[in-house]
Amino acid sequence: MNVLGLVNQKGGVGKTTTAINLAAYLAASGRQVLLLDMDPQGNATSGLGQRGAELGLYEALEDPARAAECIRPTDQPGLDLLPATPDLAGAGVELADDPDALSRLLGSLTGYDLILVDAPPSLGPLTVNVLAAADALLIPLQAEYYALEGLAGLMETVERVQGGLNPRLKVLGVVLTMFDGRTNLAQEVETMVRQHFGELVFWSVIPRNVRLSEAPSFSKPINAFAPLSSGAAAYKRLADEVMSRVEKI
Ligand code: ADP
Ligand code: MG
Repeated sequence: MNVLGLVNQKGGVGKTTTAINLAAYLAASGRQVLLLDMDPQGNATSGLGQRGAELGLYEALEDPARAAECIRPTDQPGLDLLPATPDLAGAGVELADDPDALSRLLGSLTGYDLILVDAPPSLGPLTVNVLAAADALLIPLQAEYYALEGLAGLMETVERVQGGLNPRLKVLGVVLTMFDGRTNLAQEVETMVRQHFGELVFWSVIPRNVRLSEAPSFSKPINAFAPLSSGAAAYKRLADEVMSRVEKI
């Protein structure tokens, strides 16, 4: 079982969009996939049409023996969701003293090839739990001028976790999102990001595509909502690239 955390403490960079659509394509390729919504805003939960669940990640963290009750199937074969419920907003306080809570929960789950965790936009206790539990991280970066801003803080936190809580933690890769190929700026940002991160940057770049932003309001991942869109093609390629890197972990 491989646990992939989607992290970046900036909001609005494409973590949730990547979590949903990557999970959907990994499931569509025949793998058993679980998506964990670790963001109290619950965007991954609502994007898959699962808002209103009574039991979710918070309850599963409190009592891992009940995790199976908290997991819900989605409309996508092979894709399950452990949803965010409103209770999760209060979990930061409890998790501050308990960085291994998510690891314990994941240790009680079986039957999945891959678990994706959508992290909140902060470096707080919820994200530290994700770093402590993950095998590898995927870092979405929005292709804009300030893309690299704040990443030093994330990398320092990753290194601290590697030095203590989770020595096996790896960075699987950096993915450029919301790329607008018509602008020079986007291309300059891509060059800068590839210079900075080298081979860590995935070849697949996610274009800015309105279909990707529309899909959540139809409660569907892009493979079900607009399979012929440029966004769908990009996430399908990314899923292939992610799997080939995961197999080398
Ligand atoms: P995060 O989870 O990092 O906060 P989101 O995935 O929620 O970011 O994306 C922020 C906003 O941008 C959302 O409204 C989403 O629909 C939109 N968005 C994300 N990726 C794309 C894309 N490639 N093209 C167009 N809109 C996108
Ligand atoms: Mg999000």
